[in-house]
Amino acid sequence: MVEQSPMAIKRRGVMLVLSSPSGAGKSTIARNLLNEKGNELSLSVSLTTRARRGSEIDGTHYHFVTTKDFERQRDSDALLEWAEVHGNLYGTPRDPVDQAMSEGNDMLFDIDYQGGLQLMEKARADVVSVFLLPPSMTELQSRLERRAEDSPETIARRLENARKEIPHWRDYDYVVVNDDLDGAFHKVQSILTAERLRRDRRPGLFDFEDSLLN
Ligand code: ADP
Ligand code: 5GP
Repeated sequence: MVEQSPMAIKRRGVMLVLSSPSGAGKSTIARNLLNEKGNELSLSVSLTTRARRGSEIDGTHYHFVTTKDFERQRDSDALLEWAEVHGNLYGTPRDPVDQAMSEGNDMLFDIDYQGGLQLMEKARADVVSVFLLPPSMTELQSRLERRAEDSPETIARRLENARKEIPHWRDYDYVVVNDDLDGAFHKVQSILTAERLRRDRRPGLFDFEDSLLN
């Protein structure tokens, strides 16, 4: 009989949705999750019509597209969800998600609450949603300013929008206040670790039980 290691127990992939108002730290925490050794998590790379920031790489952080391209993909049902955020269009390409889920791989989504709600509606059993809150509005503003990648007008618009985004913590499974970065990262990592162990995500436990008992 071939012995099965607990690591090989077959399970469904997790769709880890991370949302927050702009500047609360979701890209930073997402990056830490992706860099964590052994995490085997891939990022869903969104389409956006927003202009590329100096530090961003096309195809890695986003697929930067024209409005016409975006609308073409949206209208051909190539997007799993999409939304207008801060005056730009953003959307999640469907194919990479379908592939990751069919292979039992986990995917991370750095998307706003409108997208989060759409994914929860479409794939409730697979989605684990985490909403990040800033410790205060003053800290949120200084993080947006410190990031120094957006114009003062853009920062003002994002702060204004934050007031409408923040109440959506209610729609999420977990809520983490990103005060201390290390602490917040470990909380999100713990959520992922625990959700991976949920019984209902692990159909392979039946085979594992067989291998234990027979
Ligand atoms: P978001 O993706 O939510 O818009 P970012 O991850 O880009 O936010 O973070 C905004 C800025 O705040 C960045 O400069 C980042 O380095 C900084 N930052 C993130 N988390 C913390 C934290 N816990 N304490 C201090 N600065 C932080
Ligand atoms: P930013 O312009 O700062 O990269 O992102 C602005 C907002 O758009 C963030 O809240 C980010 O999470 C969200 N966003 C990024 N990609 C997507 C996406 O594919 N769909 C949705 N709904 N929101 C997205």
